[in-house]
Amino acid sequence: MASAAELRALTRLHVREMAARLRAGHFTARELAEAHLALAHAQDRALNAWASFDDERALAAAEAADLRLAGAHAAASAGEKVAPAGLPPLLGIPVALKDLVVTRGRPSTAGSRILEGFVGPYDAHIAERLDEAGAVVLGKTNMDEFAMGSSTEHSAWGPTSNPWDLDRVPGGSSGGSAAAVAAFHAPVAIGTDTGGSIRQPASLTGTVGLRPTYGRVSRYGIVAFASSLDQVGPFGRDVRDAAALLQAVAGHDERDATSAPLPVPDYPAELPDPDDEAAALLRGVRLGLPREYFVKGMEPGVEAAVRSAVRALESAGAEIVDVSLPHTDYGLATYYIIAPAEASANLARYDGIRYGHAVRDGDVLANYLATRGSGFGAEAKRRIMLGTYALSAGYYDAYYVKALKVRTLIKGDFDRAFAGADGQPPVDALVAPTSPTVAFPLGARLADPVAMYLSDACTLPVNVAGLCGLSVPCGLSEGLPVGLQFIGRAFDEGRLFRLGRAYEAITATADWRRLEPTDLPKLDDPATPTPAERTARLVRR
Ligand code: GLN
Repeated sequence: MASAAELRALTRLHVREMAARLRAGHFTARELAEAHLALAHAQDRALNAWASFDDERALAAAEAADLRLAGAHAAASAGEKVAPAGLPPLLGIPVALKDLVVTRGRPSTAGSRILEGFVGPYDAHIAERLDEAGAVVLGKTNMDEFAMGSSTEHSAWGPTSNPWDLDRVPGGSSGGSAAAVAAFHAPVAIGTDTGGSIRQPASLTGTVGLRPTYGRVSRYGIVAFASSLDQVGPFGRDVRDAAALLQAVAGHDERDATSAPLPVPDYPAELPDPDDEAAALLRGVRLGLPREYFVKGMEPGVEAAVRSAVRALESAGAEIVDVSLPHTDYGLATYYIIAPAEASANLARYDGIRYGHAVRDGDVLANYLATRGSGFGAEAKRRIMLGTYALSAGYYDAYYVKALKVRTLIKGDFDRAFAGADGQPPVDALVAPTSPTVAFPLGARLADPVAMYLSDACTLPVNVAGLCGLSVPCGLSEGLPVGLQFIGRAFDEGRLFRLGRAYEAITATADWRRLEPTDLPKLDDPATPTPAERTARLVRR
């Protein structure tokens, strides 16, 4: 049996290293799961990245993976074809799920009191796929209520801290998944991105996050926020790990009518291990730099890190061209009509009869009002009111229909950049900042919804246009991670991964790559305050 220090060392490995060592018999999937669960349990008081743990099912899945590994070994030594190399890549690999992925017999609250006590009647499509792949689901991660937010502070279960500075937010809404991956509680995690909720927390925690193209991953069994914008995607500590997780969950599913019946490329197979081979992927690539993405209010340190990343891509052989996406400025307004409109419809189902939380001390209408009044938090209520207003008979044309028209214009900007227009050559992808700022202090944007909404100015146009986007770490500003965003054509995730992998390769020896999140040691100290206690102290000041 390994020592505690040896077990903790296992959590530092990348997915492909874990997989290779599991196959070589260096440790078992059970030991790997126990190592992650032990670390996560010990540190979660101070981090609050998790909404619920599922030790029992994780250990059962790990034991099943160990049996499959042993079976493959026995078959291989008997000369049969099922060699360990033919096993699924995620077999025995720990994974965290955002707390809006429904799983049979387990809680999913979507960060909301209104789903307190709700137990999943079935498995989401991606949960089935992870099960088939032999992945080990450790539990569910904390999130903004119904994925509405950019800081994870709108969770009914309290905020999550950022492992780089526990007084700061990890971003949101998938902040629990991002923090869990950054703190080595899981090598990879699932998030959702409706306006930036994978890329922005990836940027703020120094992790890799991909928002796939709308339709790439089935939304069956994912608690809905805004159905025309929501997409499920991966977090990892590097591009190859994120690609392996997307590979396991992507693909057509008949139960989601918007899931695309397209073949899924073998993403990890297209990503070279040797850095020189990966760097060579940049030669002859043309990247557009959208000038509107260097927005007002962008921190100088963030802009400097992003511009220096762009120069590095250029020195490595990429051609950088300036492009204009003239309707970028309307992205935020468009998104904040469409997303709340769809949310107000989706959230109508929480009536105190069918799901979770219920107040039952009056007549039907009184119960309905009391359930919703006490079950939804302030941000969810704000969105329901905004959305109901935008869809109301008198304002539908003025707001909702108008927003749909502007949505088409925003998509047109991207189409023109990718196709080449106005004397500009076509580009293979766009390169931009992910977030205009580094992680902000807990409480800093809570009282100002518009400041919170501005966190996603550089990410939400991608959702509005139905494209894909990848955030990779590109350095630090004031000791905190900065993210670089690649934006691709619809269903061009493979190219984004190759660009991200190439960027990793050309910066492989950078000093910042060797750093672990600054505040990790504090997570082991029992005297460390909880994120909620930190917020109370910071807001009082
Ligand atoms: N922050 C944005 C919002 O609050 C996006 C959230 C998301 O992508 N789920 O709507």
